[in-house]
Amino acid sequence: MRYALISDIHGNTDALHAVLADIEKSGADKLLCLGDIVGYGAEPEECLREVRSEKIDTIQGNHDSATVGTTPLEHFNEYAKEAVLWTAARLGAEDKKYLRDLPLTRDYGGFTIVHSSLDAPHEWHYIVDMLAARRCFELLTERICFIGHSHVPLVFTESGSLSCGRESEIAIREDARYIINIGSVGQPRDGDSRASYGFYDTEAMRVEIRRVPYDIRSVQIKIESAGLPRFLAFRLGIGR
Ligand code: ZN
Repeated sequence: MRYALISDIHGNTDALHAVLADIEKSGADKLLCLGDIVGYGAEPEECLREVRSEKIDTIQGNHDSATVGTTPLEHFNEYAKEAVLWTAARLGAEDKKYLRDLPLTRDYGGFTIVHSSLDAPHEWHYIVDMLAARRCFELLTERICFIGHSHVPLVFTESGSLSCGRESEIAIREDARYIINIGSVGQPRDGDSRASYGFYDTEAMRVEIRRVPYDIRSVQIKIESAGLPRFLAFRLGIGR
C-alpha cells in the first residue's frame, strides 16, 4: 500500500489543491489527514468539502476541536484564538458535526496516526524533544506513529536520534520504531514556505517527505480580505 499523508491544512485551499495534484501525479492507494483542516486560513468550508469529497480518512486536530468548542481556547495565542472564533462563526452545523465526530487516533496495522501525541491526544502535547517522544513511544503498539501539530517535519527513533528533513527519504528498518512528523500543508513553520506532506510505501518500507510550491500571494490576499489577523498572511510568506 502507498499512503499519502497530509496534515495541518488550516483553511488553505490553494496549498491543499497543489498537494492533491502532486499526490495524483505520483499516485497513492489511500489518503490520510492528520488533523487541523480548519483554523488560521480563510477557506475552512472549501477545505472541509475537499477532504470529505476525496474520502480522506481524517482525525481531529486541536483547531478542529476548538472550533466546535471541545477544546478550551485558553492555550491558544491571540492570532489562533481570533482565527478559531472567525472559523466557528463561519461554519455551518453539518461541518461542525463532522469535525466534532472525528476520532483522535486511527490505526492501520503497522502504523498509527494522531495529531499531537499518543500521550493524552486530547491534551495536544507537542513532540519536539526526546522526552515528549519517549512518552509517545511508550504508548505506541505499532512500528510507526505519524503526527502533525508542530508544522515542522521531524523524525524520532527510540535510540534517541533525531533528524529533520525537508524533502527527505526515510528507509524504515524492521528493528526500529519511529515517530514521524510530516509537516504542514497550509502553514509550514520550518522556514520553507512550500506545502509539506508525506508518503508511506508499506512494501518498499520507505517514507518520503515532499514539498510543493503554491500561489502564496493569493492566499495572503484571501486572509487579509477576510479580516483575519495580517500576521497570519505574513507568516505564510516566510514559512514560520
Ligand atoms: Zn496545526
